[in-house]
Amino acid sequence: MFIPLSKPDLSDLEKKYVQDVLNSGLLSGGPKQKQFEDMICQYTGRKYAVAMNSGTSALHVAVKALGLKAGDEVITTPYSFIASSNCLLYEGVKPVFVDIDYQTLNIDTTLIEMKVTARTKAILPVHVFGQTCDMDAVRMIAEKYNLFVIEDACEALGADWGKDKAGAMGDVGVYAFYPNKQITTGEGGVLVTNSKQIYQYALSMRNQGRSDNNDELQHLYIGYNYRMSEMQAAIGVGQMERLTEILSKREQAAIRYLSLIKEYKLPVQTPFIHPMCNMSWFVFIVTLPVGTDRTETMLTLQKNGIQTKPYFPVIHLQKCYRDIFAYSKGDFPVSEQISLRTLAIPFHSNITLLEQQYVIRHLADALEDAAC
Ligand SMILES: *Cc1c(COP(=O)(O)O)cnc(C)c1O
Repeated sequence: MFIPLSKPDLSDLEKKYVQDVLNSGLLSGGPKQKQFEDMICQYTGRKYAVAMNSGTSALHVAVKALGLKAGDEVITTPYSFIASSNCLLYEGVKPVFVDIDYQTLNIDTTLIEMKVTARTKAILPVHVFGQTCDMDAVRMIAEKYNLFVIEDACEALGADWGKDKAGAMGDVGVYAFYPNKQITTGEGGVLVTNSKQIYQYALSMRNQGRSDNNDELQHLYIGYNYRMSEMQAAIGVGQMERLTEILSKREQAAIRYLSLIKEYKLPVQTPFIHPMCNMSWFVFIVTLPVGTDRTETMLTLQKNGIQTKPYFPVIHLQKCYRDIFAYSKGDFPVSEQISLRTLAIPFHSNITLLEQQYVIRHLADALEDAAC
């Protein structure tokens, strides 16, 4: 028995579209990229989308597009994948961390205002694990202090806040398509915006800062090669056609986990979902009881063929951040305490009830053994 932490959900449709691209011989900058972007626009309701080679690239372009630079500050969360604040450091922008809400695991919006200074230019909320941040609060503060909002929706394609789509509420939003995300292009990301200016800048930046007259090699900016290939876009088109199906299978799997956890009376905390949020399940996280040896729990599960991962180590205590900012333990206590107790268990759209029962049964046993 081996149950992987995650697995992409690919069908014959994606394979056919990739085959079509290979047959066409047009492997970059072709119609599939445009089609994929159009589908993202249609789904999110944003006017413009620019596909890139990763979510990190798209976040980097977002930071540049808003003109953020050295000396500026952006308020964000330390409980995230490191890319959400690395994209600021690429431009010398200082990430100013705010602790999280221990229930939603998203940025605690009641703590944002006290971190606003004259240098603050933007808020960068991360919709962690597919749960939307309190965007009413984020937008209110942004308006009050005239700040940009960059939504890191890399884990939240398909999530909503009320009637609004996660990723489609700020000045710029970014989704990512690494193989463990809701949908994948192998590697990939997309920037969405309603601003024509940001759109045109992003188009240029992903393509070496080129002017939109593609016939001549005229470069307006020092840009990057952040392009997505046609094969990746082809996978993306197939995945977008199947998005509703994929999201619904993930939701059903999450519901099965929740009821199994109840049935087995596991002493873990499961995701608290804010009533305004429609969750898009990215990973399935359980918070282990205080005092449980997480490493031992993981080892026991591993021996039984069950892959798990300690999601997320906090960003501010990573070596590369401590080297720059001299953070220390206790700076963001909720994030740190949660981070020591959260564990991602196997989760993807095609996980079966039998596999989930197997995981939960072994987790129950492991927790009994690992309790102090
Ligand atoms: C996946 C992810 C990204 C982008 O990752 P890439 O691997 O560059 O596509 C950014 N932020 C968060 C929170 C993520 O989970």
